[in-house]
Order: sequence, then structure tokens, then C-alpha cells
Amino acid sequence: MASVFSHVYIVYGIHSFLANHPYWKWCLFFAFVLSILPDADVIGFVIGIPYGSSWGHRGASHSIVFSLLMAAVVCSLFFQPYFKRKRRLAAIFIVLSLAGISHGLLDAVTNGGLGVAFFWPFDTTRYFFPVRPIEVSPIGVGVFFSDWGVRVLLSELIFIILPTTVIMVGWKIYKKITK
Ligand SMILES: [Zn+2]
Repeated sequence: MASVFSHVYIVYGIHSFLANHPYWKWCLFFAFVLSILPDADVIGFVIGIPYGSSWGHRGASHSIVFSLLMAAVVCSLFFQPYFKRKRRLAAIFIVLSLAGISHGLLDAVTNGGLGVAFFWPFDTTRYFFPVRPIEVSPIGVGVFFSDWGVRVLLSELIFIILPTTVIMVGWKIYKKITK
């Protein structure tokens, strides 16, 4: 995995493109949750599920289908008032889905572990992108405060946080100019 900070920051970046309406704050909250939810699968290491299994780390929970399902569940449980406003609901659904999918995309540019089962349940192959500049993040918190943790933060700062910030600030400036 990439670190929790990067998963959440990417979602904040996606969200910055949206209008400033109260429901977006809740949408952002759930997007944060869905962006880190896939890594709940590390429980598999504890209960003995093999890493390479579909139910192992970076398996089903990191797939596009899982992200779409979770977005649908959150929409149906927490965004019922928007059921009659189809376009608004669709926008929320898309943001929540992207939040989940962005998790797998980030993991697929890390340099360690197994790849991501993007296309589960249709294809259980684990995929990486050809270029993988992000240092894979340790799973335990303790290991994070080590040389490895510093390398992870540096690589994420250069390849995730900085580009996302540049895009967000660029978008804000563009909106100000074109107002
Ligand atoms: Zn992950």
C-alpha cells in the first residue's frame, strides 16, 4: 500500500474540483473512508488468508467492482435525500467510486508486494503499472518510524503530494481568473 496520508490526500484533490455545497462535506468524509477501506484486508494476514488469494491483501477489496459496490452502499444508506435529484446523486456516486478506485491505482505504482486485482471477479490477475516510483508503505505503525518510513514519505511527497497540490492550486487560480 501507499500510506494512508497519500490515499486521503488524493481524495482531497479530487474533491477540490467540486462545488462548495454542504453535502459535499459529507461526500468528502465518506470518500476518505472509502479511500482507505480496501486496506482493511490486511486482517487476512492475521487470520491466515494467503496474500495471493482473491481475499488476500490487494485482492477483491482493491478491485473496481468492490469500489463501485461500496459507493452504491454508501449512497443508498447516507444520501437518500438525493434519490430524486439524479444528477447530484450520480456526482456523489462517481466521487465515492473514484475514491475507492484511486486506492488501487496508488498501490499499483508502489515498488513492493503483490499487484492489484483491479478486475476481480472477472480476472484475478494482480496488476502493477510499468513505472512504480512509490516506495511501498510498511503495514505496522512502528515500522513507519524508521528509514523505510522516511523513504516512503519522501517518495510520496515527490510523486503524489506535490503534483496533487500543484493541480489543486492551479485549479483554484484558474477559477479565480475566470470568475
Ligand atoms: Zn492497499
